[in-house]
Amino acid sequence: MDLTRRGVMLVIASPSGAGKSSITRRLLAEQENLSMSVSITTRPMREGEVDGKDYHFVSIDKFNHMRDQGELLEWAEVHSNFYGTPVADVDQKIQNGQDVVFDIDYQGTQQLYEKRRDHLVSVFLLPPSIPELKARLQGRALDTDEVIARRLKNARVEMEHWAEYDYVLINDDLEKTGADVTNILKTARISRARQANLSGFIKELQNQIDSL
Ligand code: 5GP
Repeated sequence: MDLTRRGVMLVIASPSGAGKSSITRRLLAEQENLSMSVSITTRPMREGEVDGKDYHFVSIDKFNHMRDQGELLEWAEVHSNFYGTPVADVDQKIQNGQDVVFDIDYQGTQQLYEKRRDHLVSVFLLPPSIPELKARLQGRALDTDEVIARRLKNARVEMEHWAEYDYVLINDDLEKTGADVTNILKTARISRARQANLSGFIKELQNQIDSL
């Protein structure tokens, strides 16, 4: 029996440098019917980033306008910049049975839990140790020492929210953690909350019993 299914909203969160991007990239490459939610942000574009793919880069005025018009499913200030998730695209995908991955912080995740509880599954990735996290951040060569220090401080705050996530994984092995996240998504796809017309189907079965 092929019942229509709703999409999964999968949040993958971690302190920066704990492997979130690698895990997400891997998942997107191997899984069909899965796409990334593209956030809007007021932070400047980094080298190598593509507008509309990594983020929709917007002015503060545009951000405020979208927020005030109710066009954002959630929003937050992170590292002194504003970030938010446009609601329209996500809701359409979920109704069409397409799964969406979110790279958002704990503040955004809390808002998604308030607004879209039934659709949400959240995963928090931890680094195996802080020296390892620091080495990964330095190895990326993306940021200055000052920015790295700020990210580490922010990591501490992010970690305080570990208990708000459905799954908490220690990412000491990319292959294993990647496989765990794939299993989490696959299980979420078949959960009761995903089945859009289950009650209709059960009614039909009951009618068949009644008419025996
Ligand atoms: P970055 O500037 O390094 O791309 O992202 C910084 C942080 O902002 C990351 O922790 C990321 O998860 C978070 N972030 C990115 N987009 C959003 C969003 O739309 N909403 C929220 N709440 N956080 C976001």
